[in-house]
Formats: sequence, C-alpha cells, structure tokens
Amino acid sequence: MKYCPHCGAEIADDVRFCPTCGKETVVVVNDAEPQFDPQDVADNKMLAMLGYLSMGVLPMLGCRNSAFAMHHVNQALWIFIGSMLCSLASGILAFTVIIPILGGIALIVLFVFEIMGIVRALKGSGKPLPFIEKLPVIIK
Ligand SMILES: [Zn+2]
Repeated sequence: MKYCPHCGAEIADDVRFCPTCGKETVVVVNDAEPQFDPQDVADNKMLAMLGYLSMGVLPMLGCRNSAFAMHHVNQALWIFIGSMLCSLASGILAFTVIIPILGGIALIVLFVFEIMGIVRALKGSGKPLPFIEKLPVIIK
C-alpha cells in the first residue's frame, strides 16, 4: 500500500493515477539517484555490500536478479578494474617515478570509493559513486 503524494489518500501499489484526486501517483525524485524496489534493497543490501569485498562474486551467486545488488556489483567491478590497472601501470612504469605516484593517489581514491560503496550498500542507498557512474554497465 502506498499514499498519494498529492492528497494523501491510500492507494494500491499498481495504480498510476490516484482515484481520489486523479493526479499521477509517480513521485518525481529531485536528483538522479536511481530508485530500487524497497523489498529488493531490504533483502539484498548485505550481499550488495559483500560484493565490494568479493569482486562482485557473492552477489552474483546469491542474488543475480537483484537490480540493487547488481548496481553495486558494477561499481565494485569498476573499482577492482581500476585498482588492477593502477597497480599494473605503477609496476611496469616504476622507472618513470611520476606514474607510480599518480597510481598510488588513484588507488587511495578508489579505496575511498570502495568504502563509500560499502556504506551506501549497507544504508540501502543506490546513489551512484562519482565518476564511476559515467562508466558503462558491466553486469545488467
Ligand atoms: Zn490523490
């Protein structure tokens, strides 16, 4: 059961227009935060969080159909790929000195992203991580 955002009348979940006031019941979200099914979030936020600690493997095995968990899996995979590339570039180009320094800074940023992702997954938030939201979706 949900409530009409215009008149407050109780309405069925699948009704698009409020039977009391006739207005559309879809709530417009003011920022670009993607919305996930609250039941999906409640059921799978722990696995979504564990995705950051398992390169996405645990949610892929445990809740492949969860849009919320797959959103976090994508972020976890990009953080993993980014970390691998930074480590690799720093190792191969160690003689340049500047690349390992930049790589180290990037790894710290990615680590902060990972912590942010874990916190957001646990809070049930689907707010995308900065920059990573611009990257393509790996797992639909
Ligand atoms: Zn209404």
